[in-house]
Amino acid sequence: MKITEISTYRVPPRWMFLRMETDEGIVGWGEPVIEGKARTVETAVHELAPYVMGKDPLRINDLWQAMYRGGFYRGGAILMSAIAGIDQALWDIKGKVLGVPVYELLGGLVRDRMKTYSWVGGDRPADIMAAMRTLMEGGISTFKMNGTEELAIIDSSARIDAAVARIAQIREEFGSTVEFGIDFHGRVAAPMARVLLRELEPFRPLFVEEPVLAEQAEYYPRLAESTSIPLAAGERMFSRFEFKHVFERGGISILQPDLSHAGGITECVKIAAMAEAYDVALAPHCPLGPVALAACLQVDFVSHNAVLQEQSMGIHYNKGAELLDYVRNPEDFQLRDGYIAPLPKPGLGVIVDEDKVMAASRNAPDWRNPLWRYADGSVAEW
Ligand SMILES: [Mg+2]
Repeated sequence: MKITEISTYRVPPRWMFLRMETDEGIVGWGEPVIEGKARTVETAVHELAPYVMGKDPLRINDLWQAMYRGGFYRGGAILMSAIAGIDQALWDIKGKVLGVPVYELLGGLVRDRMKTYSWVGGDRPADIMAAMRTLMEGGISTFKMNGTEELAIIDSSARIDAAVARIAQIREEFGSTVEFGIDFHGRVAAPMARVLLRELEPFRPLFVEEPVLAEQAEYYPRLAESTSIPLAAGERMFSRFEFKHVFERGGISILQPDLSHAGGITECVKIAAMAEAYDVALAPHCPLGPVALAACLQVDFVSHNAVLQEQSMGIHYNKGAELLDYVRNPEDFQLRDGYIAPLPKPGLGVIVDEDKVMAASRNAPDWRNPLWRYADGSVAEW
């Protein structure tokens, strides 16, 4: 069996699908993307393609090593996302060839259903309460929201009050019938992170995500010492070789690798196993499309330490397309009380609607996150 073709399709809202064809007619799908840099990742995919074209798709481990080590330079958001999408398609093909879901190839189920959470609010975290009420009607009780808008390295008491008031109203309204994580989104620098974590502690969030940027990971153990809130991070780390420093230093309780950013299933199942050895929970990052989510679920269902799965149904980024728009088996993705069952179909478990993907790719927008600035005109973290 040989890989004969790799095609990429950039589609709304901000995703990219990869289609891998074989000489035996079996097709695999992946989702390699960095949000806002889809074209760059697309170029990287086609630069990596010669490592796998004409090769046996069942030799995933060898192909992964060839892509990672073969080009001398490695790692980082772009290259590891390109590898991720190719890797996902390889696992999809292997599962389809053998007629089993990928989790069977990884040792089989460790749980019967996986807990997910839903985003509420948006970039400007205002109308959280109304959004939570709507989702609760659908049985969802676990949420994530942005903790603050832009926050300066040293900011005002009024800004802190606003951030705290938003969270306080949730506990006031819903008590302990809901659980939520708070995403600082890298908007908070170390001095204010200490302040905000202390102020938010009484509301007992499930976690605070990216309390500071991953590039300031040396603060994670110090912040963890200063708060009882579990700290989460990982969406901006891209391989075992980055995550190992987080494990060594400590401070992170919930690891959030992204299956479309951090080398795919082959790499993330190893990252998950490393986390388990350090008593660190797993909650894969996934504000992306259905192939990325399916890849996450394959790892969740074989990882004992997986606690929560992010998913993008109704997320504020999904302008122009929704998670299940490109899927012909949406019934397999239905949430029940916020949980999802193992995807039953062979491979990744997604039947991609090829016609829709190809039609949507004809006028895909170039999504970009906004550029925020502080009141003084200087650039703020979004
Ligand atoms: Mg985040």
